Amino acid sequence: MADKPLSAGDPIEARCTKCRKITNHIVVAMKDAVPAKVECNTCNGQHLYRKPKATAQTAAKKAANAKVAEQKKWLELKAEMEKKSAKKYSMDAGYSVDCVIEHPQFGLGLVQRILGGRKIEVLFEDGLKTMRCK
Ligand SMILES: [Zn+2]
Repeated sequence: MADKPLSAGDPIEARCTKCRKITNHIVVAMKDAVPAKVECNTCNGQHLYRKPKATAQTAAKKAANAKVAEQKKWLELKAEMEKKSAKKYSMDAGYSVDCVIEHPQFGLGLVQRILGGRKIEVLFEDGLKTMRCK
């Protein structure tokens, strides 16, 4: 997209106060090269322009990065996990940290933390997952 300055009538993505989400809008009025008022294409409501928050996207990106790091860690630990004998995962079994478990869906995993409340945190190839235990 070229850096063409916005003007009234241009489409823009904005957070709609009525729809409570990011929807397509049309710029109704400009102020200092920034949209001042927009009209929602979904509910046709007019309201002040709110920049779509980048936080949700940033959080998603952070989560994706964390997952990549977890998957990398799993790969590094894979050989070590294969050396230990893996226990078949069962939510009625008890586990300790560094226990290797084998899950029918997620495969080989290494217990990272005991979370308490009958939960453990396990590193699988697909990333960290919270699992039930005894
Ligand atoms: Zn709306």
